[in-house]
Amino acid sequence: MRACVIRAAKDLHVQAWGEAELQPGEVRLDFAWGGICGSDLHYYHHGRVANSVLREPMILGHEFSGYVREIGPDVNGLTVGMAVAVNPSRPCRHCDQCAAGMLHLCRNMRFMGSAAHHPHTNGGFAERPVVLGSQCVPLPHGFDPRLAALCEPYAVALHAVALGKITPGASVLVTGAGTIGSLVAVAARKAGAGRLIVTDIAEQPLRRIADVTGAETYVVGHPEADHAAEQAIGEVDVVLEASGVASALDMALRRIRPRGRIVQVGFLPPDARLSLSGLLIREVTLVGAYRFLEEFNEAVRQICAGEADLAPFVTAHFTMDEAEAAFAAAGDRTQNVKVLLSFGA
Ligand SMILES: [Zn+2]
Ligand SMILES: [Zn+2]
Repeated sequence: MRACVIRAAKDLHVQAWGEAELQPGEVRLDFAWGGICGSDLHYYHHGRVANSVLREPMILGHEFSGYVREIGPDVNGLTVGMAVAVNPSRPCRHCDQCAAGMLHLCRNMRFMGSAAHHPHTNGGFAERPVVLGSQCVPLPHGFDPRLAALCEPYAVALHAVALGKITPGASVLVTGAGTIGSLVAVAARKAGAGRLIVTDIAEQPLRRIADVTGAETYVVGHPEADHAAEQAIGEVDVVLEASGVASALDMALRRIRPRGRIVQVGFLPPDARLSLSGLLIREVTLVGAYRFLEEFNEAVRQICAGEADLAPFVTAHFTMDEAEAAFAAAGDRTQNVKVLLSFGA
């Protein structure tokens, strides 16, 4: 079969990849749609994501859907031809975190399309990816699996919003209007946010979010605009920081009300410099949000039920043969939110 393989920075090719017999618990899928994520872009541009460094060829991709093609021994609940969303998490189910039900914080997590371990954990951007049956969430009969490729990032958004503990009518500030910021805004609105505010350095993605969620939006990134935005924002109950930029978290700490909650869902660089004095004097809770837990199933449910309309955030489609063009497009955040890939007809 063909697969989208990364070897090092800028070394991305669609190439032949061997196929093995299914092991107990595994299923083989026909790839339907995959979404390019920020972490895929990091591997593409830098050959690494934080401490996960590419040291051998790896199939990319952790946001994807497919059709069940072949079912191995000991798999329940799936039938051939069924469309499924794939949860890319493979927790060990043995460590203390797994035992405590915190599977997303598993100490031995094998997350698809990740170079965190040796050998690397291959992703799903392959013609016939093999996954565990337990990773597959069936889609309703006839549902187009295109939007199912967004279940993973939407699950991240749902998890962050859950940690924000938004009460009905609460004022919520989302900093960063990339894919996660966009989906966080949708999830926050659905969770009952009253006043919803989104900031970003680019205007285009803010307009799209305003159209979908009715959010107030502000362009930030230079001193005058920042000052005006902060004056207009005033004070909020919850901040969901989705940009991974230290200045955005600084703003969050200035705009949060006493006893408010700040959820960090954007990856901050290791050398981020922050002034945390506001944390103490206003008794602010600052919490990290990493990946997702049972929110994946909820994401599938909401997307399939039409409760979360994420279609406006799919901005481009490419075939796998155009993978390099697709990665270039996905990196242009003024034009694109989520770029989807398929192997074509
Ligand atoms: Zn992702
Ligand atoms: Zn574990």
